[in-house]
Amino acid sequence: MTLRCVVATANPDKATEIVSVLSELGDVELLGRPADVGDVEETGDTLLENARLKALALCEATGEVAVADDTGLEVDALGGAPGVWSARYAGEGATYDDNVEKLLVELGDGEDRTARFTTVAYAAFPDGTEVHARGEVLGVITRSPRGDAGFGYDPIFAPDEAGGRTFAEMAAEDKNAISHRGRAFRALAERLAEAGLL
Ligand code: IMP
Repeated sequence: MTLRCVVATANPDKATEIVSVLSELGDVELLGRPADVGDVEETGDTLLENARLKALALCEATGEVAVADDTGLEVDALGGAPGVWSARYAGEGATYDDNVEKLLVELGDGEDRTARFTTVAYAAFPDGTEVHARGEVLGVITRSPRGDAGFGYDPIFAPDEAGGRTFAEMAAEDKNAISHRGRAFRALAERLAEAGLL
């Protein structure tokens, strides 16, 4: 069955990854996100609430199946920060570099550098059906940024499964194969398929 859906992110870095993962998952027809639909304010306290807010808002605005994600990086030595605040860790309007810099300063020389990325992927249907799934990847925060690929915290996150490389040192398909986002969207596709929706 073909799933016609619109992807609810204004972040082109995330959109590229989501489209690439979804395209591998069977019969998915991706519709462009209408330019006149504004960004949803992420007012939830959890990744799940924010992913749901984004999916429901876009579903309502377009009348199409909407797929959204929300992602957070949790660093153990920082009590789970930046977590749901990952996009705004260094303040409102912070750039990727600002956030990376702040995280490295906060961690300092600390030996405990374990962290996890988590994504909640959410699909909202015009008939009210909602399906979601979670994906995560464990790793460590490096002492300085490495690599030019990817985005966000990728230059300082080295997944346990990547032999010491950071996400920013990996090819896009290698990142997608083990990443929080890749796992969340593949799990979402499985749930949709089980429900006969994909
Ligand atoms: P969002 O709330 O899902 O848009 O993501 C929050 C923030 O987490 C983004 O602004 C990025 O800084 C960071 N982020 C999300 N996904 C990734 C990723 O795959 N790699 C590195 N950083 C990410």
